[in-house]
Amino acid sequence: MTTFAFDDRVSLVTGAGSGIGRAMAFAFAKAGTRVVVCDIDRERAERTASEIGDAAIVAAAEISDEASVGALVESAISAYGRIDVLCNNAGIMDTMALPADIPVALWERVLRVNLTGTFLVTHAVLPHMLREGRGAIVNTASEAGIRGGTAGAAYTASKHGVVGLTRSVAWAYAKDGIRCNAILPGPTLTDIASAESVGSFDLAGAARLAPVLALGERMAQPEQMADAALFLASDAASFVNGAIVPVDGGWSAA
Ligand code: NAD
Repeated sequence: MTTFAFDDRVSLVTGAGSGIGRAMAFAFAKAGTRVVVCDIDRERAERTASEIGDAAIVAAAEISDEASVGALVESAISAYGRIDVLCNNAGIMDTMALPADIPVALWERVLRVNLTGTFLVTHAVLPHMLREGRGAIVNTASEAGIRGGTAGAAYTASKHGVVGLTRSVAWAYAKDGIRCNAILPGPTLTDIASAESVGSFDLAGAARLAPVLALGERMAQPEQMADAALFLASDAASFVNGAIVPVDGGWSAA
């Protein structure tokens, strides 16, 4: 029988110092993996890892920097020897500015972290998964990865890119035992709206989300995203590959 057990596996979660990534790190530890807790914010990463205990190590890294990502993957491999599960979760919001108003530097930063960062970590981890002949990648995209109007243009474009990357990886490595899927979280209670990313969050823009809240009644908890990631990374999803999975309480079904 297929199970959700991950005994003896190793997971790497980016953005694990806060919100959805932190919940993923706890969920994967509870499921039996050893966890590499990655975040740009070392203090937050250390907090997550120390709360998990012996099954976790900290690897502070900036996912948009190739050298930093190289060091991250090296430290994961030297600690645990392999990476079975990769959760590409770290990401930043933009200011929800309209396309004509987005500063080019903001556009480039959001694309660099959300899309290129996801690519860089995937690119560095894939050779190790190929060597092992197995692996599961779960990318945190967004509802903004399949439609416009729910977030700023840079964020929306970056998350559409993550969906495209997910499909490309899924298609390219299915024959090698590596699966790649994405979750599309709906509005989730985390720090992302107040994060010191790039620019401040525009509450007037956020008001555009109001219909969502009316429909879904409440925002999601990060643990609900972690549960979906856990399924996609598990053997229970062994034939699920290239799936783009809304986890939004039915918002996108409307
Ligand atoms: P969060 O701000 O609580 O957590 C994000 C974490 O990523 C932070 O700890 C931050 O330090 C880290 N991070 C940011 N940039 C980084 C970088 N360059 N390198 C390494 N780490 C970095 O936010 P969250 O809501 O938990 O977001 C997690 C993911 O979920 C993001 O990709 C986000 O786009 C996506 N998402 C969130 C929501 C939501 O409503 N919260 C909705 C859809 C998608």
